[in-house]
Amino acid sequence: MKKKVRYKIFICLCVFYLVSIASLCAFAQKRSFTVFFEGEDNELYVYKVNGTDPGKTLMIIGGIQGDEVAGFLAADRYADISLKKGNLIVVPRANFPSILKRERKINEDMNRKFSGADAGNYETKVVKVLKKLIQESDCLLNLHEGSGIFSEKWEGPMRNPKRFGQSIIADTAFFEDKKLGIKIDLEAMANNVIKEVNKHITNSEYFFHFNNHGTAQSDTKHKEQRGSATYYALYQCKIPAFGVESAKTLPLEQKVKQHIYAINGFMNLMGVIPETPGIDLKKPELQYIIISVNDSVPVVVGTMQRLKINRGDIVEVLDIVANYKRGLSVDIIGVGSDYNDMKKKFVINEETRIIAKKDCYACGSIFLDFHPKDVVETSKLSVSDSKKTAELKYKLKVNGRIRIVDNYSHVKLKRGDKLVILDLISGNIDPSEYVVNFKGFVGNRRNNTGEDRGYLVDTAKNVLMRKYSINKQNKHYYIVTSLNDKEVGKLFIDF
Ligand SMILES: [Zn+2]
Repeated sequence: MKKKVRYKIFICLCVFYLVSIASLCAFAQKRSFTVFFEGEDNELYVYKVNGTDPGKTLMIIGGIQGDEVAGFLAADRYADISLKKGNLIVVPRANFPSILKRERKINEDMNRKFSGADAGNYETKVVKVLKKLIQESDCLLNLHEGSGIFSEKWEGPMRNPKRFGQSIIADTAFFEDKKLGIKIDLEAMANNVIKEVNKHITNSEYFFHFNNHGTAQSDTKHKEQRGSATYYALYQCKIPAFGVESAKTLPLEQKVKQHIYAINGFMNLMGVIPETPGIDLKKPELQYIIISVNDSVPVVVGTMQRLKINRGDIVEVLDIVANYKRGLSVDIIGVGSDYNDMKKKFVINEETRIIAKKDCYACGSIFLDFHPKDVVETSKLSVSDSKKTAELKYKLKVNGRIRIVDNYSHVKLKRGDKLVILDLISGNIDPSEYVVNFKGFVGNRRNNTGEDRGYLVDTAKNVLMRKYSINKQNKHYYIVTSLNDKEVGKLFIDF
């Protein structure tokens, strides 16, 4: 690795750790992500986002009926949001099997399952989880696409009181529970949001309207809605709940946008305030690197895994996958430039390590090992894991020759020898996590970070500071290796 990059990485790592400690304190339990029924067809992803300031919780359900695409695509936009105030519970894909089939239902209509008996199917299991989440919320939105366009009066078969499209539905206009002293003006809430949504709609034919289903009334046109999520939320949990319906026939982008305007409107009503732009400071972590050797079919090498190649092979990193999508690069130690070695071909003449980075942070490594000298593998590339050993070794270059030496051993040098600490060999712990400090040597004079890997120690040039030598005799120096600020190793340099 070249000097510039090495010190940049170190500084950034320090800053990064400080930032991440600070963020742990300031934004404790800011978000959580839970997978229910993992590995089953009906996997259920639940995202909970907590704002920096406490407040109300708005729950958003998308995809409860898989053929209503706009709803889950809109809900999905909120899974990674950051909030300044209040909370969101986002279930973008409540009915994943039905989404995959693009069908309204698989066994039963999931949005009719919130009352009544356990049918022993996956819909019942999912609804059980949704009910628990609704109980934790102060308001519920269920995102749909409706056929036709809702109108208070009959205007035609596709535009009448029985249609759903372009409306915000509530099970009643006004809800009151006298015993608990709860009064909810659902109509006023919906109209408030509708006003905001309609600002973005140019054709008044497609304006949203409030759609009161009067679901509890005996003369309701929508008895079936008594099994819906909103009905459960309002009558069991006593919280405002709305179905947001965009018209199926509109272009997808318009529908998704309308849902987003509606969600934003309800967030505003509930005092759930987003952070714009949101911040995301999770620790960058490499998942895998995709690499090609001598123009081979690409192979996937996971973080801390080792790829066996032959000396002289041409290696090209094609892509890297980490828990971030942007700001990614790779640095192949000993070859390439100070910056990004991605998508460039290099002849590899020494075993080495490829450091993956997110911006200036090292976020993972893979290793290029050589086949033993007499084995020349040409056809297949093999990937293996790093050994689970805490044993630390040093990879040095002395006068151009590579030497591997044990931790706590002595290395004899003559004045005039040229030494480079190439890297650590550290089992299954990423070498980037360590700091290797040659006491009395400053690798980077502009900013002494304490990290001395990759720098030339030219002993002919008097680069060692006598006061750091043992007994200040300028004969014995040492290198200290630390991990998370704890000393874990030493190497002694004797002249
Ligand atoms: Zn629906």
